[in-house]
Amino acid sequence: MTHCRRDAETHEKAGIAISFDDHFINEWFALRPMFRKYNAKVTFFITCPDSLTADEISKLKILQADGHEIGFHGTIHGKSTELIATGPDSYKNIELAPGLAHMAEAGFKPTSYAHPGGNHNARVDSVLLASGFKILRDVAISRRKIMGFQMYALAPRLMPWIYYNFDNERIVDALLIDEDSGLTDPEMQEALEKAKNDNTALMLFGHEPLYGKPQNGEYGFHVPFLEKILKEAARQNLKFYTMSELPDRN
Ligand SMILES: [Zn+2]
Repeated sequence: MTHCRRDAETHEKAGIAISFDDHFINEWFALRPMFRKYNAKVTFFITCPDSLTADEISKLKILQADGHEIGFHGTIHGKSTELIATGPDSYKNIELAPGLAHMAEAGFKPTSYAHPGGNHNARVDSVLLASGFKILRDVAISRRKIMGFQMYALAPRLMPWIYYNFDNERIVDALLIDEDSGLTDPEMQEALEKAKNDNTALMLFGHEPLYGKPQNGEYGFHVPFLEKILKEAARQNLKFYTMSELPDRN
């Protein structure tokens, strides 16, 4: 037995936590064979749950039974900092309670929350944590373009905030993997290696699964790009975490 071995010297927690936002339930469900192939567990953050059809609910239940997590992404996908300006109750009554009631009716009790539009502040966070969410996920972007010009680029390996340190942190950032992030395969390879070496979990998220370049206002990630990430994560024996599992793992 190696009682004195310290965490940093092992890679046993090293992993990846991938999430998907909004309401692309059929499109996400179509990825199920790929998730199964790599034994990947992910989190789906659902917004506008009032519009969930019976078919979408049953697909989400199948995904949940596979080990994926169903999280919450707001009732109206509103701007929380504006909603909370009129008080925590009106924020709760508009953005949280109605959607959570629909989720409960459908049989889901989300324990993780993704901020719509990455918009939040400390007041919003405290209301969400007091409402029972175990982890709140914000958005990190490695490249920003303004009117087509690249304003800055940061390699994911240089963004410590997209790695979960298993310190029970409940307010986290995930790196956007959508097409317009401009992320490359070598950058993702480095990011996964960093998680492995540091015994942390890389947090990523995207929107709609796309099979070509985004068209007509589509926003999402290239499915073959996601598959390379899953394949490399599996090759490196990284653990797949759902978002609520992160603060639970000590
Ligand atoms: Zn969203």
